[in-house]
Amino acid sequence: SENFRAVLISGGDSGHSAEVADVSPAQLPEGDVTVRVACSTLNYKDALAITGRGSVVRSFPMVPGIDFAGTVEESANPDFAPGDRVVLNGWGVGERHWGGLAEYARVKGEWLIPLEEAFTFEQAMSIGTAGYTAMLCVMALERHGVTPDSGEVLVTGAAGGVGSVAIAVLAKLGYRVVAVTGRPEESDYLTGLGATRILPRSDFTESGKPLAKEQWAGAIDVAGGRVLANVCAQMKYRSVVAACGLAAGMDFPATVAPFILRGVTLAGVDSVMCPVDERREAWRRLATDLDPALLESMTEKITLDDCIPVADALLDGTVRGRVIVPLTDN
Ligand code: NAP
Repeated sequence: SENFRAVLISGGDSGHSAEVADVSPAQLPEGDVTVRVACSTLNYKDALAITGRGSVVRSFPMVPGIDFAGTVEESANPDFAPGDRVVLNGWGVGERHWGGLAEYARVKGEWLIPLEEAFTFEQAMSIGTAGYTAMLCVMALERHGVTPDSGEVLVTGAAGGVGSVAIAVLAKLGYRVVAVTGRPEESDYLTGLGATRILPRSDFTESGKPLAKEQWAGAIDVAGGRVLANVCAQMKYRSVVAACGLAAGMDFPATVAPFILRGVTLAGVDSVMCPVDERREAWRRLATDLDPALLESMTEKITLDDCIPVADALLDGTVRGRVIVPLTDN
């Protein structure tokens, strides 16, 4: 069969580089299902992999892409047949196993989930890991008892991928959403997604007191670092913070005060190894609780070749919302 195109990352002793290359199907990794990738996407983690600015890639050469949506081409797995529409998020794909930024992918069938009828491939990737993680964060708030009546919910990194989807979903569910952004010029965009108020990121970046005025019934944080520490200090009594990111840093310079004096819950959210039942639940919820028109308004389309320069822009925080990479026409 014919060669296909893929982003290919080289590394190790020879130094880091990424290019779009022709790849032979014989080079595809082990797996019981081969998928013709209709669309992939660029997430924060893919940008770390492509630029080499984070140690995401575990073996070389690597095809990045922690997400893809497409059609099953070949399957030795009883759960999948040629022609099935599927989506994949995480499981180490694009880190340890060749990923979605390619016209074909071969994976373990157990990593795939059937794509909800409601979604086109491009819509599924407009959501991608960023959007599915935003939904996991909303579900974490709900699991800990947050409702629209509890009070305002804060979303950090608001104009990014996770933040944009989180705002749209929370607003549709009836929450009052307060968006934190470093880009005041995106205020109209954030209001359009459903944010009721916007706060500057600089309100959260100075070293703050262990406890501040109680303000938020829930929070979804993609920043980590000092931002997360300050968010925790402003949480209401018995409120919940869903923490999923490290855009501001891996450290967490906080105190236990919000947890032991205000009963605040810090709920960690991981999308990569999340159990299948919860993934399916998140995708079902996205089919009902996310307005497809808003999804389109937050999405930009790029080519496979664009992935390399756009990866730098994404890490520099200049990309708004989500970036998708349409690949094959099916
Ligand atoms: P993204 O589209 O690049 O969005 C990140 C946003 O964070 C930026 O748009 C920016 O928003 C804000 N930001 C950037 N630098 C910052 C800084 N120094 N301090 C505070 N805020 C900053 O990335 P994403 O795909 O949404 O991912 C966001 C984070 O979540 C990443 O750290 C990613 O690794 C993580 N994540 C984790 C999981 C998981 O499974 N746990 C899954 C998906 C993503 P503004 O310009 O609006 O301020």
